Amino acid sequence: MYRTHTCGELRLANIGQEITLSGWVQTNRDLGAMAFIDLRDRYGITQLVFSPEINDELYQQSRKLGREFVISVSGLVRERSSKNLNRSTGEIEIEVQKLTVLNSSKLPPFTIEDETDGGDDIRMKYRYLDLRRSPIKNNMIFRSNLAIETRKYLAAQQFVEVETPFLIKSTPEGARDFVVPSRMNPGQFYALPQSPQTFKQLLMVAGLDRYFQIVKCFRDEDLRADRQPEFTQIDCEMAFITRDQILETFEGLTKYLFKTVLDTELPDFPRMSYDEALRRFGSDKPDLRFGMEFCELTDLAKGKDFVVFDSAELVVGICAEGQANYTRKQLDELTEWVKRPQIGAKGLVYMRYNEDGTLKSSVDKFFGEEDLKAWAAKTGAKPGDLILILAGEEEKTRKQLNELRLEMGRRMGLMKPGDFKPLWVIDFPLLEWDEDAQRFFAMHHPFTSPKKDDIPRMLDGDHQTLKNLRADAYDLVINGSEIGGGSIRIHDRALQEKNFKLLGFTPEQAENQFGFLMGAFEYGAPPHGGIAFGFDRLCAVMSGQSSIRDFIAFPKNNQGRDVMIDAPAEIDGGQLEELFLEVKKAE
Ligand code: ASP
Repeated sequence: MYRTHTCGELRLANIGQEITLSGWVQTNRDLGAMAFIDLRDRYGITQLVFSPEINDELYQQSRKLGREFVISVSGLVRERSSKNLNRSTGEIEIEVQKLTVLNSSKLPPFTIEDETDGGDDIRMKYRYLDLRRSPIKNNMIFRSNLAIETRKYLAAQQFVEVETPFLIKSTPEGARDFVVPSRMNPGQFYALPQSPQTFKQLLMVAGLDRYFQIVKCFRDEDLRADRQPEFTQIDCEMAFITRDQILETFEGLTKYLFKTVLDTELPDFPRMSYDEALRRFGSDKPDLRFGMEFCELTDLAKGKDFVVFDSAELVVGICAEGQANYTRKQLDELTEWVKRPQIGAKGLVYMRYNEDGTLKSSVDKFFGEEDLKAWAAKTGAKPGDLILILAGEEEKTRKQLNELRLEMGRRMGLMKPGDFKPLWVIDFPLLEWDEDAQRFFAMHHPFTSPKKDDIPRMLDGDHQTLKNLRADAYDLVINGSEIGGGSIRIHDRALQEKNFKLLGFTPEQAENQFGFLMGAFEYGAPPHGGIAFGFDRLCAVMSGQSSIRDFIAFPKNNQGRDVMIDAPAEIDGGQLEELFLEVKKAE
C-alpha cells in the first residue's frame, strides 16, 4: 500500500498512529543531529523527521533525497515541539521507520513553491511541474468544482447535456476558423466550431427544450492579451422562453455558483441598456465597483475660443474624488498616458478643485472662475476633487475616457478584490456598420432576433433606421469583464433570410452556408434563445485574477503555441500527400 493517509490529513488526534504517506520531497533540511523533509502531495505538506539516534541507516538514506524525489514512508505520528500553525498539519510530524524511493528526480528548473522563481516561458515548458504548485493546482480544483456545480444546477433545471460535433463546416462570418483537411474527401476541409450556435438551435427545433454543454470553442484570432485560441464555454439554449426568463435562469446559475463555490451572496443584478452604459461609462462592460461616471460638458465648454473644445463633437469629464493633490508631474504623466497610441487621446484637460475652494485648470487662459465653478457644479465636484476632461469625436472620446476612468480606478484602489458587481447589459444594436467594408455586420451573430417592436422597421427601414435597430441580445458583465452573452433567436425562415440579406449575403451564399438551419426553421421551429458563459474567464473573475491562462491546465502562449509539446508543428510528406496538400514555405 502506498499510503494510509494524505499529506494534508494528519492532526494531533492521530498521534501515536502508524501511518504511510507518499509524495514529493519539497525541501530537505539536514541539521546534523536530525533531518527534516517536507513531503508534499495534492492535499498538503507533512513534516518527516529522520535522526541518527532513531535509525542511522534511514538518516543516511534521507540525506540523499533531492527535491522532487518521489518517496513513500511509514512511521509514527508524533507531536511537534515547534509547531507551524500556518499549516493544517503543522502540529504533528512523522518519525520515519521505513523509506522507499519510488522515483528520483532531476533538479527542477524552477522552485515548486507558491512563489516561484520561474518565468512564464519555463513554467509553460514544464507545465506539469508548474501544476504541482499550490496556486495553479488550486485553480484546477476551483475550475473542476465550478464545472461540477454548473452541471448540478442546470440538471436540476431540466437541462440536457448534449455533445455537438467538433468537425463542422467553415463559415466566413465571425472570427477566423481553424480548419482540418479531410483525407477521405480530397481538397475539402472541416472547420472547428467557434461555438455550437447552430447545433444548439437545431436541438431546440428537435424539441430537447433545454440544452447545455461545457464545451471547447476554437477561434483563430490574432491573440490579444488574455485570449486563447481554444477556450471553454458553458453553452445553453432554451425553447418557449422569454428574454427575462433566460436572464433569471442564468442570474440564478451565477448566484448559485458564487454561493456554493465562494460562499458569496450576490445581490440581484441590475440591468442597463447598451446606450445607457456607453453614455455613463463609455463601455458596454462597465466596472461598477466604483462610480466616476461620465459628465458631459460640451455646452459649458464651447464658445470660449479654446479651439480644442470648440471643434469637438463631445467634451466629457470624470471627477476623481479626493485627487486634487495630484502634482503637476503626475498630471503630465497622466497626459502622456492618455496620448499613448493604445488610448489615442490628443491631450488631457484637468481642473483641480483645491481644498481651500480655489479652482485651477490647465486651460485658465480660456476659462475664468465662473466657468470652472460651472464645471464643478455639473460634475458634482467637491473641494479636494480632480476633474479630468477629454474632447473630440464622440465615439472615440467615450472610449478614451473609459480607459482613463479604469486607470484612475486602478490608481485609486477602487477595484477591490472580493467585491463583485454583476450587471446585465441589454438592448444591444442588431447591426453594426463597418465603414471600411461598407457593409453591416451582426453585432452579436446573424441568428440574433431584433426586438419584436423593431421587426417592421427591419423589413423596410432605410440605412439610418437599420443602424438604430435593437436586438434582443444581452451580456452578463462582472467587474468590467464580459462573462457571458446571448440572445433570443430568429426562428422564422423569412426573417432569417432578411437578416442575411442585410448582412450582405446573396440568397445563394445564405443557402449554401446556412440552408440547413433555415430549412429546419420550416419544420416547426419553436421560439428559442440562449446564452454562453466564458468558463475560463468566469473562473478568473471569481478568483479575482486577471489572467485566464492560469485556469487552463495546458494553455497556449501569445503566439498560439504550446511550448511544452511544441505545437503547431510540420507534418511529414506522407501525411501531406495523403491529404492532397502542398505546403508553400513561408518566406
Ligand atoms: N454562441 C454565442 C457566442 O459564442 C453565444 C450565444 O448566443 O448563445 O458568443
